[in-house]
Amino acid sequence: MQFKRLLQYKNIAHCYTLKENLNFRGVSPIKQESIKSICNELNLDSSKFIMAEQDHTKNIAIINNGNESLEDIDGLITNQKGFVLASKSADCTSLLMYDPEKNAIASVHSGWRGTAKKIAVETANKMKETYGSKPENIICCICPSIRKCHFEVDEDVKELFENTFKYEGIIEKGRTDGEKQKYNIDTTKINKQMLKDCGLKEENIVDCELCTVCNNDKFHSYRADKPNYGLNVGIIALK
Ligand SMILES: [Zn+2]
Repeated sequence: MQFKRLLQYKNIAHCYTLKENLNFRGVSPIKQESIKSICNELNLDSSKFIMAEQDHTKNIAIINNGNESLEDIDGLITNQKGFVLASKSADCTSLLMYDPEKNAIASVHSGWRGTAKKIAVETANKMKETYGSKPENIICCICPSIRKCHFEVDEDVKELFENTFKYEGIIEKGRTDGEKQKYNIDTTKINKQMLKDCGLKEENIVDCELCTVCNNDKFHSYRADKPNYGLNVGIIALK
């Protein structure tokens, strides 16, 4: 799947992978095949495929030579050609970012924990400090992820979001499970809002508006497929 907005730029390649024939999960024997196949499709060098370990942190790695440590990292940025920056997800949000002025890119894993830690803003700030990117020039594409329709949490997680963000309409009272009140959280709206707050233009925040659980036939989804779930990746590279 590709974003029309990013296809306008001939010097970058990107995609969010579909479920069919592709799985980027560590334990899957088809992971290496998937990396080769998607790089081949995008005309990229699979030996430069870089995927962070991802541990729901807000830590960003600056990729200069490809030998950087990827432990405890959830976001990748570079201004070097060739590196294929990948973030894996199955319901979590992958963000693909591009600054056409400074020619810098980012691939970010923003699960609900990373979203609460504001990793999207951390990434924009890191691009600013490393490459001189102005927030108003950064384009951020929001890949398929679990949306408010399916992202159901208990009181504890609801309180975390309530205490962290003051945005309107991000928390909805959901169903009750026995005594327990459930809540639905709109993490996409939260990401959009915090990116706007840090200076991104509304028209530069592009949302695919696809829920991975609703569209489980097309995308791997942890909630829909567990325990044997697979992983999709959001990929971006400078050519
Ligand atoms: Zn849904």
